[in-house]
Amino acid sequence: MCDCGSSRTPGAGPFASGRALVEFVLKAHGGSIALSALPSGLEHNCQGCGKPFVLETFVQSCPACGGVHAVSPPRANDPAAIQFAGADFVQNSQPGSELSRE
Ligand SMILES: [Zn+2]
Repeated sequence: MCDCGSSRTPGAGPFASGRALVEFVLKAHGGSIALSALPSGLEHNCQGCGKPFVLETFVQSCPACGGVHAVSPPRANDPAAIQFAGADFVQNSQPGSELSRE
């Protein structure tokens, strides 16, 4: 009953983009995915401020500007799949509480 590898809705779930993807990963498996370490760190440039950093968990904030980035489990080895939530995104739900919104 894992929904992190498939979706009936194009543009949603693990293959969404931008903020929708970040929010999907934050909610996946009650937040446990977001805190999980990637198989290997993904080097990329922050899509907010352009500073390079290494994404080491499925959801991580840029150390320079705090911009939230995420990658979905099916694409965990692809730096090009990293999505940026946007400069004004605030991660306001604690991992583990997936009940807050749909
Ligand atoms: Zn940044």
